[in-house]
Amino acid sequence: MSDKDCLFCKIIAGEIPAEKIYENDYVLAFKDIQPASPHHYLIIPKIHKASLQEFVDGDQQVLGELMLAAPKIAQEQGFAEAGYRTVVNTGKDGGQTVFHLHMHLLAGREHQWPPG
Ligand code: AMP
Ligand code: ZN
Repeated sequence: MSDKDCLFCKIIAGEIPAEKIYENDYVLAFKDIQPASPHHYLIIPKIHKASLQEFVDGDQQVLGELMLAAPKIAQEQGFAEAGYRTVVNTGKDGGQTVFHLHMHLLAGREHQWPPG
């Protein structure tokens, strides 16, 4: 369920500090250490899966909880109305650097499209 060498599993276990902002049985959200926007959070599943590519039929609940955390956090943090960007980077070409699935939640400025 967890990977002893995984940075985000260590955050879940409380072995590495993080500024947690939201948690339920399935997911945890905390502030990104290098914010790319005034609000920048990472929403992660509490089970270790390296990327979106590892998810299969049967993982609907955890993926649903991951996605549903975004509007809840947006409401709590006060940027639901202004809007926000959600991003999941997958693998090398996706720009993924930490291999425990995470959804970026970015807000507090206008974001451009397409991304770099
Ligand atoms: P990605 O490039 O999509 O894999 O994003 C990984 C994100 O994790 C980056 O935005 C990093 O700033 C962030 N990050 C790396 N280490 C930590 C940490 N210890 N606490 C919070 N965020 C982190
Ligand atoms: Zn992990």
